Amino acid sequence: MKSSKTWLTAIMISVLAISLSAQRGGRGGAPGQQGTPTPPGPPRVEELKKEVAADIETMKVATQQMVDQVFSFGELGFQEFETSKYLTAILEKNGFKIERGFAGIPTAWVATWGTGKPVIALGSDIDDIPQASQKPGVGYHDPIIEGAPGHGEGHNSGVPLNITAALAVKKIMEREKLPGTLKLWPGVAEELVGAKMYFIRAGMFRDVDVNLFAHVGSNLGVGWGAGFGTGLQSIEYTFKGESAHAAAQPWRGRSALDAVELMDIGWNFRREHLRLQQRSHSVIVNGGDQPNVVPPNASVWYYFRETDYPHIKELREIGDTMAKAAAMMTNTEVTSRILGAAWPQHMNKTVAETMYTNIQSIGLPKWDDADITLAKGIQRELKQPQIGLATQVGQLRGGLDPEQNMGGPSDDIGDVSWNVPTATLGYPANIPNLPGHNWANAIAMATPIAHKGVTAGAKVQAMTVIDLLMRPELVQQAWDYFRNVQTKDQKYIPFISDKDQPALWLNEKIMQKYGPEMKKLYYDPTKYKTYLEQLGIKYPTVR
Ligand SMILES: [Zn+2]
Repeated sequence: MKSSKTWLTAIMISVLAISLSAQRGGRGGAPGQQGTPTPPGPPRVEELKKEVAADIETMKVATQQMVDQVFSFGELGFQEFETSKYLTAILEKNGFKIERGFAGIPTAWVATWGTGKPVIALGSDIDDIPQASQKPGVGYHDPIIEGAPGHGEGHNSGVPLNITAALAVKKIMEREKLPGTLKLWPGVAEELVGAKMYFIRAGMFRDVDVNLFAHVGSNLGVGWGAGFGTGLQSIEYTFKGESAHAAAQPWRGRSALDAVELMDIGWNFRREHLRLQQRSHSVIVNGGDQPNVVPPNASVWYYFRETDYPHIKELREIGDTMAKAAAMMTNTEVTSRILGAAWPQHMNKTVAETMYTNIQSIGLPKWDDADITLAKGIQRELKQPQIGLATQVGQLRGGLDPEQNMGGPSDDIGDVSWNVPTATLGYPANIPNLPGHNWANAIAMATPIAHKGVTAGAKVQAMTVIDLLMRPELVQQAWDYFRNVQTKDQKYIPFISDKDQPALWLNEKIMQKYGPEMKKLYYDPTKYKTYLEQLGIKYPTVR
């Protein structure tokens, strides 16, 4: 099923849409078909859902501590060592069986509890953003450690949400003797789209019936179908030339940096003649050592993003051609390797509709004046509309005509969504109208805004798990959609080969540089109620 014709058929019939951009910052999707929230289940199911939500309300302190703790670790992709050690210890203490080092990735793990079917997986990302260090609760740029990484997206909150939900559901499963298995997993190196395709290759989802993902946002929300956004291939090109004295005998040198620059120039001319849906960007990760030495090697790292599998493949092929051409022009050699990849997302209709009913029943947290003052403070600072925080739950998203998808961000949950029925819960732990991948997106992430948002999200997640455990027809419907609509004409084809390996070395040096300073500021819940208290920050601090 590799031809673009069958793919086109697939996108024509696969009607609808999740807006990743909406999840990430509250920007709305195109209006369209909305889907139908799943009707309530039998009375006993609804009673247990109420009970699980009430129980999660009593777990608020533990939830807050997890959110603050992971925030304080602030680890980049593939370097989430403290984060994973901490989260797995909590799960292990609560009776989960832990498999560490999953798929050969040291910071990856799977935590399993329960027996039999259905197997419900709960995943969320754990890595953070370079140079996004920021004091929580302070409504302007004020790094904890200048230059250090920080949770400038909010990935500190998702696994704490899933753990809260799982522990509450587990209590009910034990008491009611409900069959089923809970399987928690971390989105390692999501900012590099570096791990989930390897999780799939290593069989993480082989026995999973439904996967519930959670991603931080500024509202409660969920959607289904294909949607706004892209998939991508992340490729590093390395050119090899020959060094020489740049002034004495420059004719003896062959500059690898020249090749990188020519490739970039070529790509930027070609850009005008690519589809409007594409997004492509690069950074020069190695541009040589010093000007008087002709650079013998140089590397440039590209993200090639497009809205469907054939176009992503094609964009990367154009990149490969251009790299070869640049090597020919400069008499250098080029090699390439894949550092990450993501399929465009396609979320499950039944799972999203079930989740949406629970979103409607939980609703948004009650924000207080301090929360709103912080939100408006940073919105004012960034010259954005001062709308404060979300006050109304959004629509069940869907109905996007694939032709309307003009591109956007990517997430390697896309790969998972093509292997098992999946939906992503967006939860309101962050502030609307922020730039994303930025210090500003860290401000709320260890404050009551994040704590309340995670508690609300955990309730929705737990209620959805109860639905899936107790209403087998929902799991059946989810697979009907997956088999007969979503994957009818398009099957998952991994971007990685059997030989490719995860890019475990990425971010190692940055963490070596900043880790020791960051360690001194890890949150200590035995001494301080909150991380704000430990850092001595008055909440909120705004200009
Ligand atoms: Zn993310």
